Amino acid sequence: SGSGSNSLMWFRKGLRIHDNPALEYAARGSGCLYPVFVIDPHYMEPDPNAFSPGSSLAGLNRIRFLLESLVDLDLSLRRLGSRLLVMRGEPGEIISRCLKEWDIKKLCFEFDTDPYYRALDVRVKNFASADGIEIFCPVSHTLFNPADIIQKNGGKVPLTYQSFLKLAGDPTWVASPLSLGLSSLPPIGDVGCCQITDVPTVNELGYDDLDEDGQTPFKGGETQALARLQISLADKEWVAKFKKPKGDPSAFLKPATTVLSPYLKFGCLSSRHFYQSLQNIYRTVKKHTSPPVSLVGQLLWRDFFYTASFGTPNFDFMRGNLICKQIPWDDNNELLVAWRDAKTGFPWIDAIMTQLRKWGWMHHLARHCVACFLTRGDLFIHWEKGRHVFDRLLIDGDWSINNGNWLWLSCSSFFYQYHRIYSPISFGKKYDPEGKFIRHFLPVLKAMPKQYIYEPWTAPLSVQIKANCIIGKDYPKPVVSHDVASKECRRKMGEAYALNQKLSSQVSDQDLQNLR
Ligand code: FAD
Repeated sequence: SGSGSNSLMWFRKGLRIHDNPALEYAARGSGCLYPVFVIDPHYMEPDPNAFSPGSSLAGLNRIRFLLESLVDLDLSLRRLGSRLLVMRGEPGEIISRCLKEWDIKKLCFEFDTDPYYRALDVRVKNFASADGIEIFCPVSHTLFNPADIIQKNGGKVPLTYQSFLKLAGDPTWVASPLSLGLSSLPPIGDVGCCQITDVPTVNELGYDDLDEDGQTPFKGGETQALARLQISLADKEWVAKFKKPKGDPSAFLKPATTVLSPYLKFGCLSSRHFYQSLQNIYRTVKKHTSPPVSLVGQLLWRDFFYTASFGTPNFDFMRGNLICKQIPWDDNNELLVAWRDAKTGFPWIDAIMTQLRKWGWMHHLARHCVACFLTRGDLFIHWEKGRHVFDRLLIDGDWSINNGNWLWLSCSSFFYQYHRIYSPISFGKKYDPEGKFIRHFLPVLKAMPKQYIYEPWTAPLSVQIKANCIIGKDYPKPVVSHDVASKECRRKMGEAYALNQKLSSQVSDQDLQNLR
């Protein structure tokens, strides 16, 4: 690479200074360095699948989290003698224009597996290499390069966690220390006629910042991420004993897991740094849990879904997705809206959906409960619809992980024990018999006595009156009877599975004939 020439660092995810190989490479030997983030209107566009007019692909909470992360990144870059150049528009066009305008010789950005970026990156790479620009595009969002794992498996995607672990082994980068800081950055050159702005506010992007649903308690940015990591790992015993299915999904004052997911999603926190910090703790304790239940195990789940999604065409659809069971889901908009808007009449489900809307984050088992309820548990609605609602409202909404888990929870792929259905009544009660979680997120049920809090429709009218909550008026009646609906769901899943079995055996008969 030409020493003293200009480089462009294109931030997308990876909104951090620590462990950022693309940024480091861009800085090395460059005369000028242009750190760019493009605000992509794609995510603010009206959502064709949304019910309420004006709602966008990404909800207010996630956009706010992103903008906070950008402000933090800008501050960090300024401390290193640089700043973040924010632009707005179609990223492919903007980056191509900047490359020309600034006479860039080196273009650096983190490798991204999301289909949206894979398509975009092909365009940008073609454009840049036609101009003889050097491209550096390292894998640093995940612990492993999904392509390497698939190659090690003879070109096939590993579809179980155990086979993934075997193929993965230890990450190659663990042998050399990660770079956790930079001391300075080359200056920014003349920006010419490119339109540079400060980080916009949510208002400037067309969101209503007073919307009471958009007030997540979690703030974006690398500074927050590293502080949160430190707090999460301060109690070494807790880390050593971490067992995923054991946590309390109803804990909201102090969540039972780290809540690092939104920081990992945007790359405010490096998953490799997280992994290494965990290994350092494991070395100092006598005993620790292991994958799949340990904290390192959680990070490996993340890589597992990144790998599966990378190697599976149409991963985010049922149709044309070879690893997805074909199930004749019902098309019932009324029930879908009830689920989305926290009006199913099951307080445990509605409280979780309210937490999703208000916080953009829920505990893993809480996500299990509402995803199972929507699909194979009670409502028999397509997982793609639920995935879509999650994708818009989660602050950690992540293409690979979200789709992977919806495939899992709907028993469409990875997990097939469709007989095991979460009860929307008794599951939460085990953790939170008083119903504190429900009372917090559904204040309308605040005064409901605890023996009725999970099934308020069973409370005598006198109790409802005293609790100031008439079922069917102040809070909905249940949209289904769980006993009837779950039985029906099991039956339909059984039928669909049998049909899938038949179809796949027909396919293989045909394949055999083709071979003959
Ligand atoms: P911790 O338990 O502290 O785990 C640490 C990290 O490990 C997480 O931040 C996450 O990056 C990773 N991780 C944990 N569980 C999983 C998992 N099951 N699969 C993959 N990675 C995991 N997670 C997302 O990050 N984005 C999503 O869009 C998303 N959608 C989901 C949809 C459904 C239907 C379900 C059931 C789960 C989904 N998850 C998603 C996975 C999981 O629920 C969250 O990652 C986790 O609850 C985040 O909280 P945490 O950071 O405290 O997790």
